[in-house]
Amino acid sequence: MTQPCVFCRIAAGQIPAQVVYRDDRATVFKDIQPQASTHLLVIPNEHIGSLSEADQVDPALLGHLLRVAAHVALEAGVDQTGYRVVTNVGPDSGQSVFHLHLHVLGGNRLRLPLG
Ligand code: AMP
Ligand code: ZN
Repeated sequence: MTQPCVFCRIAAGQIPAQVVYRDDRATVFKDIQPQASTHLLVIPNEHIGSLSEADQVDPALLGHLLRVAAHVALEAGVDQTGYRVVTNVGPDSGQSVFHLHLHVLGGNRLRLPLG
């Protein structure tokens, strides 16, 4: 049997992570190598490789992930100062973990341009 991916294992509570939010569909934890003062990762509990699989996913789940991102940004206290939500898809984006995740970045001035 193949080993479940690292984010599946975090969602299942099988490996440690600094989890800040969890419900039946999503888990949020602190990025292990933060790129901003606040750097959270919002993941679906079920395995989805990336946003490129969106057409095979319940649209309500995708909407839920965005709502959770806004919720944890509020909880982290960055809703007034602002934050960025990013998801990487495939090689040109530098995606390194192939389980859909939304980066929630904030707490300091974020760099531009994006591309
Ligand atoms: P991406 O490059 O968009 O695929 O982002 C993957 C992110 O996951 C990176 O920012 C990593 O620092 C982060 N990451 C990888 N493994 C872990 C882990 N075990 N716990 C927390 N964050 C992780
Ligand atoms: Zn997974």
